[in-house]
Amino acid sequence: MKDASLITVTRAADFAARAHVAQHRKGLAEEPYVNHLTEVAALLAEATGGSDAGLLAAAYLHDTLEDTATLYEDIVARFGEDVAKLVAEVTDDKSLPKAERKRLQVEKVTQKSARAQLLKIADKTSNVRALVTSPPAGWSKARLMEYIDWAEAVVSQIRGRNDVLDSAFIAARDVARREIAMKVEET
Ligand code: NDP
Ligand code: ZN
Repeated sequence: MKDASLITVTRAADFAARAHVAQHRKGLAEEPYVNHLTEVAALLAEATGGSDAGLLAAAYLHDTLEDTATLYEDIVARFGEDVAKLVAEVTDDKSLPKAERKRLQVEKVTQKSARAQLLKIADKTSNVRALVTSPPAGWSKARLMEYIDWAEAVVSQIRGRNDVLDSAFIAARDVARREIAMKVEET
């Protein structure tokens, strides 16, 4: 039996893997970029019982506008406006300075759609987990802790929509704070 949802999600995974093909994560393990996308999509699939194919497609595509040459119109043409809008909602304006972008994420997150907020929590959960499993090269303990505090500042405002996701973030945050606190700082 033909299942349009499965086709959409699978095509999004394929598109994202190709778009990010030459990229790696910032962590010491230099994981292929796509590993972050599969983690975010899997977190959302489990948290929503696989009920929202558009959200899962957007999960795979969520960094394409920010980090690849993909255009908003490309996503509309291939996946439709619903998916493209979700991706745009979780995309920072790269013309702004980093600090401003971070401040805006905290300030604007409550104005995002409910589905974009779920995607944000899954994205932050994956990133906070990575601070332990593969921390970005050269980040001090203070910088790692600052990242967790900032992720918490974003996520704490949008809790209450999905217990599975809320718990996943809290667990990642607590593990990361504990593990980073015990780290011996390299000099
Ligand atoms: P970011 O804070 O933007 O880097 C984190 C982002 O990188 C994540 O949100 C994630 O985004 C992505 N990422 C890729 N790989 C990993 C990984 N392994 N673990 C976690 N996240 C990963 O850092 P920048 O390097 O761009 O630094 C800019 C900011 O850092 C500025 O706000 C500046 O103020 C601050 N800074 C702080 C310092 C300090 O010592 N306290 C020193 C220098 C800068 P995604 O999922 O979207 O890919
Ligand atoms: Zn991401």
